[in-house]
Amino acid sequence: MITAVLGDALLDPATGQTTRDAAVLIEDGKVTRAGSRDGTQVPRDAQTIDASGLTLLPGLIDCHVHLTSLGEGLDFARELTTPPTLELMRAVRAARRTLDAGFTAVRDAAGSPAGVRMAIDGGYFPGPRMFVTVSALSQTGGHTDSHFMCGADLDIPLPDRPYMVVDGVENMRLRVREVIRAGADWIKLCTSGGVLSPGDQPHHSALTLEEIKAAVEEARVQGRKVMAHAQANAGIKNALKAGVSTIEHAIWLDGDAIEMMLDGGNAVVPTLVAPHWVIRHAEAGKMPAYAIDKARAVIDDHKASIKLAIESGVKVAFGTDTGVGPHGSNGEEFLLMHELGMEPIDCIRAATTLAADTIGMKGVGRLEPGSWGDVIGVPGDPLANLELLAKPENVHLVVKGGDLVKMART
Ligand SMILES: [Zn+2]
Repeated sequence: MITAVLGDALLDPATGQTTRDAAVLIEDGKVTRAGSRDGTQVPRDAQTIDASGLTLLPGLIDCHVHLTSLGEGLDFARELTTPPTLELMRAVRAARRTLDAGFTAVRDAAGSPAGVRMAIDGGYFPGPRMFVTVSALSQTGGHTDSHFMCGADLDIPLPDRPYMVVDGVENMRLRVREVIRAGADWIKLCTSGGVLSPGDQPHHSALTLEEIKAAVEEARVQGRKVMAHAQANAGIKNALKAGVSTIEHAIWLDGDAIEMMLDGGNAVVPTLVAPHWVIRHAEAGKMPAYAIDKARAVIDDHKASIKLAIESGVKVAFGTDTGVGPHGSNGEEFLLMHELGMEPIDCIRAATTLAADTIGMKGVGRLEPGSWGDVIGVPGDPLANLELLAKPENVHLVVKGGDLVKMART
């Protein structure tokens, strides 16, 4: 099966070059040629996708989403009356909305069991290519400890989603092995407190250096890398010292942390849009008071921290924490990255070439022979107008593995 996508232009994030009158040929899901229509032999039996008026680029990648989270604020009464199967089914709708927004690959930063990835790969429902972390591991009282002061615990361990609370080096080894057994592609740790958790503070570190090291070591021997929810400065540094690969949120970077990241080649995944969504949900009456106060307290420091990372040349990979905000709204992050000084081409690389290299997913983020045939189309030049990637309605064309997923015509 051969598909030919014919567009007005093709933007190659790797080179930053735009080719006019572009053609992308996809055979059995993989790109065989991407470039100028001149000199491209479109086979007679090819299915042609007419993308005239559109600029083509590789499908986008979000390095931090939660497909099983609703993205409509935090309501504990609702969560208490949500059976695990319904929670799982949220991922079906979230996956479709993510794909329709032009994101053809994601790393799920906890919540989605491996079955979500397997179901999408098996064609049960449309969705992005996925890496999953399954469970986000934190200490007692930490970011993913769902015990409330009344004694209730909202985290029910499932056969395919191990319990998230872990203390001590030996327990950490066991839990990482359990998460890998459950099908995790990445390991997620919380090395600081967070905004949405009731019992901790974003500026406090969490887990000991020894616990983090044990997790990294267990992950490494089984070919996995570790991402750390790390907001506090000390939590960021502990994660980096222990060999964690990506730092999520990074609200309080300083010069030393930046040095460590530059030396280690680590990427930061800012999720700048997440605190904005906490505040928007709060204004709509859909957030507990503690989360509102914490989001308002961190938002300026967060921006300053990420600005420092950008100016210092730290790798910035695109990630949104969607599931805090609504699924499909991922593209707004581009505007916030640009606001902090990133050039449009660097914003796009953050969600394509650099994101693919950061999460280590093969065949995504580029359109070159052998890549997955994941192509999106927007009506204009995204380098001149990032808004084209910021809203799902601006993404007119989505092709995944050569299959037409979305075509909107104005
Ligand atoms: Zn998250």
